[in-house]
Amino acid sequence: MNGDTKYDILKKYFGYDSFRDGQEAVIDTILSGKDALAVMPTGAGKSICYQVPALLMQGITLVISPLISLMKDQVGALNQAGVHAAYINSSLSENQIKKALRLAADGRYKIIYVAPERLETYSFLEFAKNARISMLTVDEAHCISQWGQDFRPSYLKIVEFIRRLDARPIISAFTATATKEVKEDIACVLGLRNPGVFVTGFDRKNLYFGVEAVRKKDAYVLDYVNAHKEVSGIIYCATRKDVNALYERLCANGISVARYHAGLSNEERRQSQEDFIYDVRPVMVATNAFGMGIDKSNVRYVLHYNMPQSLENYYQEAGRAGRDGEPSECILLYSAKDLMICRYLMEHKEDNQEFDEGQKREARERDELRLQAMDHYCQTTGCLRRSILSYFGEALAEDCGNCSSCQQEFEEADVTRQAVLIIECVKQMRQRYGINVVAGTLAGSNRAKLQEYKASSYEAYGSLSSLSEAKVKQLINLLLVEGILRVTPDKYALLKLTDLAKETLCGERKVILKLPKAAAKNEEINTNPNAGGKRSDSKKRKSDILNSRGLELFDQLRELRTQIAKEEGMPPYIIFSDKTLVDMCVKLPFQKEGMLLVNGVGEHKYQKYGARFLEKILAFTDGKPEKLYFG
Ligand code: ADP
Ligand code: ZN
Repeated sequence: MNGDTKYDILKKYFGYDSFRDGQEAVIDTILSGKDALAVMPTGAGKSICYQVPALLMQGITLVISPLISLMKDQVGALNQAGVHAAYINSSLSENQIKKALRLAADGRYKIIYVAPERLETYSFLEFAKNARISMLTVDEAHCISQWGQDFRPSYLKIVEFIRRLDARPIISAFTATATKEVKEDIACVLGLRNPGVFVTGFDRKNLYFGVEAVRKKDAYVLDYVNAHKEVSGIIYCATRKDVNALYERLCANGISVARYHAGLSNEERRQSQEDFIYDVRPVMVATNAFGMGIDKSNVRYVLHYNMPQSLENYYQEAGRAGRDGEPSECILLYSAKDLMICRYLMEHKEDNQEFDEGQKREARERDELRLQAMDHYCQTTGCLRRSILSYFGEALAEDCGNCSSCQQEFEEADVTRQAVLIIECVKQMRQRYGINVVAGTLAGSNRAKLQEYKASSYEAYGSLSSLSEAKVKQLINLLLVEGILRVTPDKYALLKLTDLAKETLCGERKVILKLPKAAAKNEEINTNPNAGGKRSDSKKRKSDILNSRGLELFDQLRELRTQIAKEEGMPPYIIFSDKTLVDMCVKLPFQKEGMLLVNGVGEHKYQKYGARFLEKILAFTDGKPEKLYFG
């Protein structure tokens, strides 16, 4: 557009001064006419990667997106920023669709979001064949891969659609989660031509990760929410029943909370979602049905009431915290029951009907392996961030210092002797049993089931009888985490020996158990961890730099934002982010020039709202410069 550079576009429409890690490389590739495939974690800023080139290229960019709610938000945000954009999906009436296509054919929109199903329809194809489509962007591109968890057959229609166009547009594909197989699938199935492939680090530095072994989860959540009253957060539960129970409990304690799960009416879900997004009810209790397509940027915490079924799910859900880059917390409340709940849910999941028997079995095995990795994450005493990143194939040079493991002091105990006894037991039982039978045998339990298996006939029977069965299980889990044992990827989860087990038997390997210091002395202490959440001390939130006058102004600006949001029917964070408001308090502009220097204020937003914010600032300060921040 008239000689603008990508930097001009970034500032003018989005109000940002610089690109984030990884964004520029993707944009440059697209602008050079090449296809691109970008794997970037949630919150990294994928949208900018295609929206900026879309505004620099001549024709139209089509964005294929699986979720109606996501399209609406994205288009709303673009229109706010002064970009002509539209969406076409089943939420519109036939007439509205006709009208949108007519305007699109007239060249009214630079960016058009469509659901994959739409690509097949005659009217859309007609439009597309006659329009100049410079780029086709596939959002959530992992949905095209049968390897992934979120395979959507309708995504395969994209390929057919591209073939029908007279001129092939540039194709760019984006996803937050992709293993090697999925990445290859995307490139191959979409027919990307010599694409630039970009994998931005998965590390989300502003997120604190925690696992807490909590017995009284409700009490923990209540404490936590109370200690974080001013901010917005999500609490994920595994089942609708848990959502309802926790919701009632929080309501009864005067928390302004919304809930969301597939069992509620459309109307209640819509209302909940809206109240949450607009900060009317800042806390959301939900199943994993909630969140896709929600890009509320000021979510300060994501608690998991139960363990999810995979680290992919966990990282995606937890990643909804802190999209604005501010310090935020992701805490998983773990209990041994969680593994059973997950297995139950997985067993009752419908198989993908497009799979044959072999594919179904493979899918179930992959699910089981994912679940085991998730469980290991909950059990490890090592750095949690390291554990997540290594799962996604990324190495972290040193421990992060910002997770519950890194911040926990441990006491070490040499448990090599016990490890050897466990290995011997697995060996004697010919690797045919799972953790319950093995632990029961070692502890010398007399359960009927063990009698049935003639457990007492093994030499190993009772060899760890000085420990409780739970303790023995804990040790077995340690051996799993250390890779000395593994379990078969089926529902029987039989314990098997690995090469490391041999090394341990030969005395070539020591096994060290790390126990939290407090827990080592008194396991009860661990049931009530520091729910007050003072750990964020290590990383300060942006608004923490404001002094009391600064916070006063910040509150006034927030009020103004809420008011504008109501007038516009837009979520507050789409008007301006908290970060932008804080920057206003710091830079304290009195005129347009100064306001445009504020992070997040672009030309278009200035036109719309700048004057009202300036007015507030002038009224607050009487037009006299002052310093509203520390440092
Ligand atoms: P993703 O789709 O990768 O999850 P989004 O595109 O929704 O992420 O971006 C996440 C947030 O980061 C949004 O609030 C967006 O406005 C912001 N953002 C993106 N790029 C930049 C940038 N260069 N500078 C500042 N903020 C940015
Ligand atoms: Zn760490």
